[in-house]
Amino acid sequence: MIKDKVIIITGASSGIGEATAKLLASQGAKVVLGARRADNLKRIADDIQQHGGKAVYQELDVTRQSENDAIVKLAKDRFGRVDVVFLNAGLMPNSPLSALKTDEWHQMVDVNVKGVLNGVAAVLPEFLARKSGHVIATSSVAGLKAYPGGAVYGGTKWFVRDFMEVLRMESAMEGTNIRTATIYPAAINTELLKTFTDKASLDQMQGIYDTHGISPNRIASVVAFAIDQPEDTTINEFTVGPANQP
Ligand code: NDP
Repeated sequence: MIKDKVIIITGASSGIGEATAKLLASQGAKVVLGARRADNLKRIADDIQQHGGKAVYQELDVTRQSENDAIVKLAKDRFGRVDVVFLNAGLMPNSPLSALKTDEWHQMVDVNVKGVLNGVAAVLPEFLARKSGHVIATSSVAGLKAYPGGAVYGGTKWFVRDFMEVLRMESAMEGTNIRTATIYPAAINTELLKTFTDKASLDQMQGIYDTHGISPNRIASVVAFAIDQPEDTTINEFTVGPANQP
C-alpha cells in the first residue's frame, strides 16, 4: 500500500526523484523532498499540493550527515513517522581516468556513496526500533557492467549494489521486516548529463540518450510497484531501461 506512507526522497529536485515524488503523491503518499535546489523543491511541492497531494521539502546536501538527520526529523515532525526512504541523489561526471579529474572522483564518492551511507544512518535507528521500513536506492546499470569513462561512477554504483544486498541480508538475519530495493536504470532522460565536464565523454553519452533515452516516469512506476507490495514481500532489484538500448 502506498496511500498514507511517509516517503523521503533524496535528489527530488529533478529527473527520477521529481517524477517519483509526483507519482507517489498522486497515489496518496506523504512525500518529503530533499535536494540542494530549494527553488525546484518548492515548485514540485507546490505542484503536488495543487493536485491535492501532501508534500513538504527541505534543502538537503546528502554529503552532510546532519542534513540527512534533519530531513528525517522533518518527516517525523510533519507526518509522524518515516515508512520509506528513497536514496536517489547522485551525479555522473564521467571522464577517462587519464584526465585525472580527481575533484569529480571525490564528488561522486561523496554523493553517490557517502550520501547513501548518511541516508541509511539517519533512518535505520527508527526502522530497527520498529522492525520495519523500506530502503530503496538508485544504483545504475553502470554498477553492473564496466565501461570506459565510467570507472568512478560505476564503482560508486557497484558499491550501492553490494551495500544494499548486505543491508537486506542483515535486516532479515536480525529478525526485522525491513525491506530493500535497488534500482538499476539504463538511459533515462533527466538532467544527469549536465555535470559532465569532459566533452568527449559527454558527446558519447549524449548520443546514447538522444537515441534511446526514456522518461523518468518509467522508474517512478517501478519504485511505486516495489513499495506497493505486501509488507512481507521485498522486491530486491530492478533493471529498467529503454527497450531499444543494447
Ligand atoms: P538528475 O540530475 O535529474 O537528478 C539528480 C538529483 O540528485 C538532483 O535532484 C540533484 O539535486 C541531486 N543531488 C546531486 N547532488 C546532491 C547532493 N549533494 N545532495 C542532495 N542531492 C543531490 O538525474 P537523475 O534523475 O537521472 O538521477 C537520479 C539518480 O539516478 C542518480 O543517482 C543517478 O546516478 C541515477 N541514474 C540515472 C540514470 C539516467 O540515465 N538518468 C541511469 C542510472 C542511474 P540538486 O542538484 O538540487 O542537489
